[in-house]
Amino acid sequence: MSSLFPTFARYPITLVKGKGSRLWDDQGKEYLDFMTGIAVTGLGHVPERVKNALVSQLDQLWHVSNLFYTPNQEKAAKLLTDNSCADAVFFCNSGAEANEAAIKLARRYHQTVLGNGRYEIVTFTKSFHGRTLATLTATGQDKVKEGFLPLPQGFVHVPMNDLAALEAAITDKTAAVMFELIQAEGGVHIADPAFVKAVRELCDRHGLLLILDEIQTGMGRTGKMFAYENYGIEPDIFTLAKGIGSGFPVGAMLAKAPLIPAFTAGSHGSTFSGTPIATAAIIATIETMLIEQAPQRAAASGELLLSRLKEALGGLPNVVEVRGQGLLVGIECAGPVADTITELQHRGLLVITAGPNVLRLLPNLLVTEQEINEAVGILASVLTEQAAAKSAAE
Ligand SMILES: *Cc1c(COP(=O)(O)O)cnc(C)c1O
Repeated sequence: MSSLFPTFARYPITLVKGKGSRLWDDQGKEYLDFMTGIAVTGLGHVPERVKNALVSQLDQLWHVSNLFYTPNQEKAAKLLTDNSCADAVFFCNSGAEANEAAIKLARRYHQTVLGNGRYEIVTFTKSFHGRTLATLTATGQDKVKEGFLPLPQGFVHVPMNDLAALEAAITDKTAAVMFELIQAEGGVHIADPAFVKAVRELCDRHGLLLILDEIQTGMGRTGKMFAYENYGIEPDIFTLAKGIGSGFPVGAMLAKAPLIPAFTAGSHGSTFSGTPIATAAIIATIETMLIEQAPQRAAASGELLLSRLKEALGGLPNVVEVRGQGLLVGIECAGPVADTITELQHRGLLVITAGPNVLRLLPNLLVTEQEINEAVGILASVLTEQAAAKSAAE
């Protein structure tokens, strides 16, 4: 019997080793990994350069208080600001904490810098922003809130891609609009470019902050280092986690210069904020992504994956739509995909769901054409067999 809380509905597989796009279980079975620990191991498992950086940092220094400077933290922040629209970074340990920091920064900017007392944050239905009390309240899905009442105040939800609903939700208490450019957990729903531009203009017109949750879409996943680059707009605040440390748990909240005075000394903090080891992982991850041109490769591989999937699955009655951007791809099916996931696992392919009816593919950014062909082949045979079995049963 396990001594763990049963918070995770686990598959009956015990994974013991990984390298690149491959994982192995304790029976020696090999898997092609098209879920990357939910968009975390973006450079594949145990990437050499990141591993070497971590090993040498382990010999040097593990942790000091944030009452001191460390070279890694400064360097990681500079790499992030040099390669994004942001001017300052706060490091944390997870996505939820990054979003928590973004929410706090937005409120504090309005309340202490502008002095207008605004606090409300508009988010979208079907969104996912994390599991802390504030971030699960921001999340636009009821299932994550059940049993956790009372929830913090100051969050309202409107449907994504509905400008009129968003405009109607804005009051003299509204501080920010916060959303994912691709709702990943919520079903791989892509924000409409015209809508995103209009939201940016709406925020400017009403003096609202635009917060983008790039925890899943960031770090090259959508074919650019950050997904906002696909839309020709810039956020005031954005958040990262998942792929930023190649598997080392770390997150970051980034913001533009006008926001910096809102987080004065003592206003926010975390013991483990940007430890030497965590920031060594970030530095090596970003440097590797730049050297390997990981975002560009994700863009090209994403197009290949999407077109191969459309070719192979297009005519199937159990496939409703194949959609995605870069290497964040969803296959919406006509019904629940739980059995499909299990069958794919039997045949050595790991993918994840995005809601009950959507298969989500999140290969690493350096995935090869041969691996894409292998995954599409397995997906096509399983979905074709399931379609045939269903029509025989009818
Ligand atoms: C995973 C995720 C989070 C939460 O990150 P944790 O590290 O699990 O706290 C928040 N937002 C988005 C978009 C995510 O994909």
